[in-house]
Amino acid sequence: MIIAIDGPAGAGKGTLAKNLSSFLNYAYLDTGLLYRAVGLKMLEEGSDLANPQAAEQAAISLTAEHLKDESKLRDEAVSSAASKIATHAQLRSALLRFQREFANHPPEEHQGAVLDGRDIGTVVCPNAEVKLFITASLEKRAKRRLKELQNRGIDSIYEAVLEDMRLRDERDVQRESSPLQPSEDAFLIDTSELTIDDVFKKTLRYVKDKGIRYGGGVSAS
Ligand code: C5P
Repeated sequence: MIIAIDGPAGAGKGTLAKNLSSFLNYAYLDTGLLYRAVGLKMLEEGSDLANPQAAEQAAISLTAEHLKDESKLRDEAVSSAASKIATHAQLRSALLRFQREFANHPPEEHQGAVLDGRDIGTVVCPNAEVKLFITASLEKRAKRRLKELQNRGIDSIYEAVLEDMRLRDERDVQRESSPLQPSEDAFLIDTSELTIDDVFKKTLRYVKDKGIRYGGGVSAS
């Protein structure tokens, strides 16, 4: 069982993916972390982010060690680097096999996997049983990101966060290789006016309507 969740930054897909995977006891892969790890590696090595071969090499030599320091990976400079290197087709195919392997053979014998990213329903797992596309207005997403940064003690300006997010959206949507777009069979949720709990319940109802059985103590009503 594969649940594919796509959408732009700050729409709430990571939170939904974590909630779903823990409720269903599925394995969870945040595929953005892979792109971030490549971006961070290249920044640390002083590689040219515009060089497709360098990006591919960085992806091929990625190890679990590079995914460990989540606070570094969440850094704004790394977000921007990840979004730039994610435009390289060779790098994307270098990361494809790992993502598919995780989805089809989730670790620790989980009965299913939840993957979130930008191209999970369209490219990585086109046969996923459940596909969700989570979005929200740019302004709402920027406000959420600003709050998140402030909670982490990082001084930020709303306008700068908004502009950064706009640029990341633009690169994700306009790139030739696996652009961000909803798969035709995806269930679309606009979270602009919804709480985390609303989104979770809406999704569980959809999962249930698809005939996917699940246990657990939480009602989806
Ligand atoms: O999801 P997150 O914001 O952590 O991802 C970082 C960057 O990696 C995104 O801005 C996007 O450009 C890229 N990405 C991607 N495809 C994915 C996941 C992330 O292109 N499946």
